Amino acid sequence: MLIDNYNEVYDRVKAACEKSKRNIEDVTIIAVSKTKPVQVIEELYESKIRDFGENKVQELCEKYEYMDKDDIKFHLIGHLQRNKVKYIVDKTSLIHSVDSLRLAQQISEEAIKKNVSVDILIQVNVSQEESKFGIDEKETFILVEEISKLPNIYIKGLMTIAPYTLNPEENRAYFRELKKLSVDIKEKNIDNVSMCHLSMGMTGDFEVAVEEGATLIRVGTAIFGERNYN
Ligand SMILES: *Cc1c(COP(=O)(O)O)cnc(C)c1O
Repeated sequence: MLIDNYNEVYDRVKAACEKSKRNIEDVTIIAVSKTKPVQVIEELYESKIRDFGENKVQELCEKYEYMDKDDIKFHLIGHLQRNKVKYIVDKTSLIHSVDSLRLAQQISEEAIKKNVSVDILIQVNVSQEESKFGIDEKETFILVEEISKLPNIYIKGLMTIAPYTLNPEENRAYFRELKKLSVDIKEKNIDNVSMCHLSMGMTGDFEVAVEEGATLIRVGTAIFGERNYN
């Protein structure tokens, strides 16, 4: 049963919280269901799980329509193209991957059209990996300030994707860096900007991320098994 896998992840998060003197209620496990059939979402939903992560707009929309529940939360965790924004603004509870002003402007415009407000995170590339999306750490302040002036879009925190590694300790410094950046931004008290969320940590490194302050962890493989991309 998938809920057994989920509960194992939960127990590990709980242990990481105890170790770092954090409250487990402050950490949400996002079950990353990308590439998996919607039935896995149904199964976990029946076990009272509500937060799911998808990285493709079309897949998220299909699963959203199929599930048709008011209390389910779909997180968009993958790169978002501007021409896809219109499909998603009223279906996602949080967009984790905003890394440019142009993308934020598009989200704001589509949100106005649909009369919704959209919560987002700024994706920061703290590990400086060439291939990854996300804004440079030193450009984050200015981006946050610019986005904060746009209507119908609200910054709720920061997100990062750490490098794939077999040794999670190697990512601790990146998680710490993201936390520090969020504290620095919070201290600026920018209108309409909250830094209540830190989305960091995946199957390979979520315990270290929780120890460093993650409030949202994105876990796929540990819950659903390996993904098959064929
Ligand atoms: C796929 C994905 C995850 C989940 O990765 P696992 O290693 O399977 O836990 C987390 N975050 C993002 C952005 C992803 O694309």
